[in-house]
Order: sequence, then C-alpha cells, then structure tokens
Amino acid sequence: MAHALTLNAGSSSLKFGLFDLSAAEPKVIANGKADRIGGAATLTLKNPDGVRLVDASPIPAEGVVDHHEALTAALRALTDHFPKARIVTVGHRIVHGGLDYTGPTLLDEKSVEKLAELEPFAPLHQPHNLAAVRAAMTAFPQAAQVGCFDTAFHRNHPFVNDVFALPRAYYDKGVRRYGFHGLSYDYIAGELARIAPQLHAGRVVVAHLGNGASMCGMKAGRSMASSMGFSALDGLPMGTRCGQVDPGVLLYLMQQEGLSADEITRLLYTESGLLGLSGLSNDMRILQSSDSEEAQQAIDYFTFRARRELGGLAAALEGLDGVVFCGGIGENSSLIRDGICAGLSWIGIEIDAAANAANASVISTDTAQVTVMVIPTDEEIVIARACAALTS
Ligand code: ADP
Repeated sequence: MAHALTLNAGSSSLKFGLFDLSAAEPKVIANGKADRIGGAATLTLKNPDGVRLVDASPIPAEGVVDHHEALTAALRALTDHFPKARIVTVGHRIVHGGLDYTGPTLLDEKSVEKLAELEPFAPLHQPHNLAAVRAAMTAFPQAAQVGCFDTAFHRNHPFVNDVFALPRAYYDKGVRRYGFHGLSYDYIAGELARIAPQLHAGRVVVAHLGNGASMCGMKAGRSMASSMGFSALDGLPMGTRCGQVDPGVLLYLMQQEGLSADEITRLLYTESGLLGLSGLSNDMRILQSSDSEEAQQAIDYFTFRARRELGGLAAALEGLDGVVFCGGIGENSSLIRDGICAGLSWIGIEIDAAANAANASVISTDTAQVTVMVIPTDEEIVIARACAALTS
C-alpha cells in the first residue's frame, strides 16, 4: 500500500498528515501538529477518529524548539505508530511559488534552489518550507517530493489586483500582489462547490484567520483579490506580523530611528501584530482570557481591520453573497467572528448568536442576505490530492 506524507510548516506550527493513496481520493490515516514552535513546543498525533496517539507530548530540545526539531519528533512518532507505512511521496506546503510555480510541481534539487531565491519575499515561511523539503529528500530519498504553493491560487487575479502603482519596471521584475494562504482558499472553494454550490457560484469573502491571517475575495471559486500582497505581511494584523502599514512608517524607521533592514524585518514579522500591540502574546486564546487593556485593544484592532478589509473586498467583488471563516481563530473564536460581523448589517450580514456560539457551519440568520459560514480548513488534503495526482 502506498502512502503520502504531507508537511505544512507554518510560522509557529508544523502540521503533518499520513494518507493512504490506494483509492482515488486520498484517505487520512493520521495527522499531527507540533504546536508553539519557537517556545515550549508540544507534539500531538491523532487518528482520524480523533483518538490521540501522542497527546501534547513536550518535544525535547536544548532551548526553544525549532522547526527542524519539530520535524524530527513528527517523523519519530509516525514511525513508532505506523511502522508499515510505505511513503512514496511527500507533499509540501510552500508559501511562495513566485511567477513560475502556478500549480503543484515535482521538486528536485534545482527547483529547490530556484525556490530559495524567493526566501527574501517570505523570510518567515519559505526557509522553513524548504528546510522541510531538504529534510524529506534525505529521510525519503526514493519518494517523489511535491510542492504545493500558497501563491498559486491567486495567480490569475485581475491586473488591478496584481500591480502596485510603482514604476512599471518593478512589476516586470516580479514586485506584485501575490496573495497567500492559497491552499486553504483552494480547499474552501472546493467545499463550497460541494456543500453550497450556489454560494460557490457567487461572490464570497473567505477569512483565513490563524496565526497568519488574510482574506480572499472570490467570484465563482476563483481569487479576485486578496488582503495579502507582495509579502505575507500586508493586510490584516496577525499573531506577530503588522498587517497593512503606511510605507512612510518604514522610511521613518530607517531614516529617523536608524533601524537596519534586518531589524525592520524582525520588527515587522516577529514583534508586531497582536504580540506587539498587546505586549503580552501572539496567541488569541491568551488575549481573550486576559484582563489587560492592551490585550483588549489588540483584539479590537484585529476585528476592526478585519471588518474594514471585508468591506473593501465586498466592494472589489461588487457585492457579497457569502462569508466563510476558517483558520484557528476563524473556526474557534465566536467572539472574533461576532466582533468582525457586528456593524456589517448594512452589507446584509446578520449573525445568529446561538449558532455562532456553537461554531455551527452556518452562523448567519435565516433572513440575512449574506450567508456566513464556518468551514474548518484542510490544507493537508489539498496537498495529498496533488501528491496522488502527480504520482499516479
Ligand atoms: P497557523 O497560522 O500557525 O496555522 P492556526 O490556524 O492554528 O495557526 O491558528 C492559531 C491561532 O488560533 C492562535 O492565535 C490561537 O490562539 C487561535 N485559536 C485556536 N483556538 C482558539 C479558540 N478556541 N479561541 C480563540 N482563538 C483560538
């Protein structure tokens, strides 16, 4: 029996899945997550029934756990519990595919080198993604390595959502609005086609709200506009990333505060967002349970900017039929969903408080013009499907 291993190295987590490829649709056998990478990370491994085979086990490390140690722990747990698994392909979530990688691709040393050139475009993700590819090439030398790109879903969006108003030469060099979280949006578009085809055919804003956060405006399941642009910094504030800032702030930081490019990179990617504003944590669960005024202000800013972005994307779509929440915050925090939707009745959004509190799949009222849904996203199955397609 042939299996696929999927690896999804996020900024603070490593999600992984083991899939049986013997049927047309890959079947998940186990999935796991190394959580809170960069701190006291833990590993969890579950079977598809949710039974925990490894339950929040601390990952051993000298100091804070990095992505490499998380991957080693994940592979050890899979080998312990599934010694007979025959991994023929490893699928990777890769955040940046640039202009050339517009769909799932078989990876070799050469393509990994080419993708490494995009590391400055996504310094918080691309190096971790490619480290996982290299580690998997060593651990599974016979397996096909498949790259699935977060930018690919957006590559056909209209020119006005692809360009910055900079001298044209920069556009030609690849300074464009790429958009990210494409695997998640691809999955949600597929789920909408399956469970709500009318909505899929219409105008939908999908809000992927996790440690990284973005929104995508879709028409008929295709990306028209995204809150993220050239890098995964733009748009919504995130766990540690700033979201939209006036470029003049960056000039001020360089010219008046004397910050170097490296210092600004660190500031924007790892010290800003919810963490920077609250001074407490990048973790929404911690902020929600805190009494501090700064934590509340960070939550207020997050919901306010998300509401603004949603309104802007509705305008880009020339109307709105549906909203979908996904990602760790979008799927679990009724407070944040309510905070974003409050005040959007003028656009046709009305939330059913009981359905929202229950994380129900439809959380809008029966009479609302806009259907609001919560759909747990599944980037791993999108990767596993690509593995099956490219290795069959
Ligand atoms: P990543 O972008 O690293 O994949 P996730 O999609 O797992 O992140 O989302 C992580 C975020 O989801 C964290 O801020 C976490 O606090 C938040 N989250 C998870 N569960 C809840 C919950 N029940 N209530 C509020 N926030 C939650």
